[in-house]
This record gives sequence, C-alpha cells and structure tokens, in this order.
Amino acid sequence: MEGIINKLKEEQMVITPEAKEKLNKEIDINDFINFLNEKEIIFVDKEVLKKYKNSGDEEKDSKDKIDKIEVKKNKKKKEKPEKKDKQEKAEVPNHLLEKYPKKDFKPLSSEFESDFKLLYDINGNSNSKGEIEDFLSCFKDRYDKISKILRSRLGGVIKAKHLRESNEDSTLIGIVNDIRESRKGIIIDLEDKTKRFRGFVSKKSDIYDKAKKVVEDEVIGVNGNPQSTDFMYINEITFPDLKMPENRETDKNGKEVHAALLSDLHFGSREFLDGAFEKFLDWINGTTDDELVEKIKYLVIAGDIVDGVGIYPEQEKDLLIKDIYKQYELAAEYLSLIPDHIEIIVSPGNHDATRRADPQTMLDKEIAEPIFDLDNVRNVGNPAMITLNGKKILIYHGGSLNPMANNIPSLSNDEPGQILVELLRKRHLNPIYGGYPLLPEEEDLLVIDEVPDIIHSGHVHVYEDYRYRDVLLVNSATWQTQTAFQKRMNLKPTPAKFPVVNLKDAKISKILDFKV
Ligand code: FE
Ligand code: ZN
Repeated sequence: MEGIINKLKEEQMVITPEAKEKLNKEIDINDFINFLNEKEIIFVDKEVLKKYKNSGDEEKDSKDKIDKIEVKKNKKKKEKPEKKDKQEKAEVPNHLLEKYPKKDFKPLSSEFESDFKLLYDINGNSNSKGEIEDFLSCFKDRYDKISKILRSRLGGVIKAKHLRESNEDSTLIGIVNDIRESRKGIIIDLEDKTKRFRGFVSKKSDIYDKAKKVVEDEVIGVNGNPQSTDFMYINEITFPDLKMPENRETDKNGKEVHAALLSDLHFGSREFLDGAFEKFLDWINGTTDDELVEKIKYLVIAGDIVDGVGIYPEQEKDLLIKDIYKQYELAAEYLSLIPDHIEIIVSPGNHDATRRADPQTMLDKEIAEPIFDLDNVRNVGNPAMITLNGKKILIYHGGSLNPMANNIPSLSNDEPGQILVELLRKRHLNPIYGGYPLLPEEEDLLVIDEVPDIIHSGHVHVYEDYRYRDVLLVNSATWQTQTAFQKRMNLKPTPAKFPVVNLKDAKISKILDFKV
C-alpha cells in the first residue's frame, strides 16, 4: 500500500490520519475504497490545497505534514432521481428506432465479405479451480513462454543452482518474487526453476531507473556479478521486449477495409452519454458527409458494454437501470441501430456479466441474451486475439492498467498508451498477481507470445493512441461521463472519442470525437 501513499503525496492529495493508518496495513484495495466511501473522505486537489494552506494556519503549512491535515467530511446530499427523467432515458428514443438502421444506406463496405478469425481466448478452455496446482502450472507456463523469448536474446544463461562467487558476470532468467527499495538501492528477489536468488541494483547504477519499472511476478533476464551462491549485483536487466521493427511490406493492392474501435459503453448508467451516442449513430448510418464511414466493416468493443450492478460501492446511485438483464436489453437495442453490414465484435470488461477475473470468458449467454440474438455480433473473451482482414488485434479490457500505474512511478492512469507499452515490453497483459484479479489457468493466456498489429483496450476511460515498434496501441476511452465514484478517485474521462483504423496497414485513419 506504500505505493498508494506515495502516489497520494505526489499528487499532493490530503488524506486523514485514519486513512493513512489503514493504508499502512496490508489491505485489499476494495476494502479501502469501501472504507473511503463509508468515511465520506474527500480528495483535495492541488489548487484547493493551496487555498487551504494560504488560509492562515501556519502550523499545518509544511509539506511533510500533509498527511496529518484533517479534512472535513463531505456532507452527502441525498438526491432522489426524478422519475420522469428516468422514463425518458432508460429506453432508446423513438425517433432513433424509426430511422435506424438506415435502410437505403448501401455503402462500399456492405459488399465486402467478412474476414474475421478468432486466434485464441479462454472460452471453452477454462479448467481453473483456483487451486494451488492451477497457480503452479500457470506460473510455470508464464516462465516457460517468456524465458524462451529472453533466451533467444541472451547468451549463456545459467541456472540459479549454479550461482557461485565469481569475478565474471553471469546471466540468469527469473520470475520476480519480490521487489523493494532499500536505502542504497533496489532489492529484487528472483526465482528460476532451480532456486531462489537475490539481486541488487544500486541507486548509483545506470539501470536504476530501469529497475524501477520491474514489477512483481514478471519474468526478466538479469546480468551481473555473483557474490555468493544466492546473491548478485545486477548490472543489466533485460525485458522480453519487442524487437525493432523490420521494414514490412505493405499490401499496396489491399482493400481499404476499416474498423472502428470503441470501448466502455456503460449502457444502463445514469452517466451514459446518449446525446453523443446518437451522434455516433447518425455518423455510422452515413448521414454525415464523412466518406470514411463507407469503408467501415467492423466495430470492435473492448469491454464494459453495460454498467452492471454491484461493481463498486454505492453504484446504485449511478444506475438508470438497476436490472442487469434490462441493461443488456437496452445495449442490444442500441447496437441493433448500427447497420447490419457492420460486424460487431464484443469482448467483456469488469462491469459485464461474466467472471470478474482475467482471463474472462465471453458475456454470459443467459444474461446478455439480446446481444447474442443480434446476427452481426460475435462474442469473444477478454483478452481475445482476433484477426480482421489478416491484421492481428489483441483486445484486452485493461484491468491491469491501474495496478501497473500504481506500481511503476513513471506511469499514470491518464496515459494509458505508456502503460500498454510497458505491458508489451513485459510481454504480459496482467503481470502483477494481487493487482487486478487473475484466475490462473493451465496455460497463461495473458502472456503476449504472438505480437499483434494492434492492441485495443479501455477501462481507464481516457483516450490515447501510441505506436510502439510497429504495434498500434489504442485506449478507446468511454461513452460515459464522469461518475461520482470517478470524481472521488480523481479520474477524468475523455468520453466519446475513438479511432477508425485502416486494416491495410493497421494505422489510424481518423480519430472521431462526438462529445456534446
Ligand atoms: Fe469502463
Ligand atoms: Zn472497466
């Protein structure tokens, strides 16, 4: 929890002594959020803090006492939702049902044949009982797959049981059991199949910043000077990073088939942006003068189709529809207004009706039945590696993005592109066990074994695209405005923004923004 405290300090946020004490103990993050909600603690941003500090109280002025400042409790206003408003927004407006999908809209893409393949997801392969054997085989698989990549880059890798005090450097591959800062540097406890060993990176070392990017449970290569049979000074850390891109030939004669990448629709939420989504429907039905629409064959949704129920404390207040079945009815009705020639690929998120741990199986067929009833929808798991017109797209909702940002000082939740880069470099979608929940399966499907052309994620509700060594990374934001919960967590969404990618070269052809 020290990471969270440091982050709060860094952001100059104020927490009560009670909350700090709680954070000092090893606690579950969900428990902590519950605790915050109960205590009605407010977060204060820098500007407010400045005013607070300048209001005269000299004693509490010094920076190092920040965590000792008491914060007034936030008085809760109990708002009763207006019934009329609820009636209007809980259904798809009639004027939309009447005009969409637009019947006379026959664009170029309606003649394109669908070229969709599912390369892998967890559907039909889930055997985990969450028992110790499952953990062992999952971590063994992770170690095997990633060490294979590392071994192809590193020469002369030795086993930990052969570590000896020596003047010559040794190279080992290990899974990180623990990483922590000491006064003089960073201590990394590693393990290979033969033995545990400890490495140390001095604060003065050139690779000190690199070492700060190491997280628990990832597999890395280390090179350094062994001091004993189980300790070495680390001089170099190797991540199973992507190779530098070769000059790939682009298919010049390829068809200009495009895909729109959306995420986090959150149907059923009071904060769902129906006005923005209406603009999206106008656009995708070809009523604007954007010619690009005529070339769109696919729509990929990276999770959180609905807002769900019981996902975070006091969510009921944010819900327009409190029944999960009805949320999917609304979602399906809205999605049915998208022209039939567009194939919709639906992958779930943490708000959806399926198990809430990575890897996720597809939406629950019984609860989300109206979605399954749509002829142009294909349901896949999370993560899912698919190909559209031959381009590999790795869809991952993004549960691990927050824990990654909390564990690596240089990352932040509002720069999801950078977090995706780190995940790619680590070749794992959710490395930290104890971050976002993992269900260990026999095969670790979260290893990024095969390099995709595009990674498409969501979850943090902030739009960002980034290109890393020939891979297009997209976080496709949301269709929901800021909730009270996100306000408390200081999360600022950038809603209704998404990209259209050209599948000929896996590059973004246009970024749309329908925020009203
Ligand atoms: Fe979401
Ligand atoms: Zn999410």
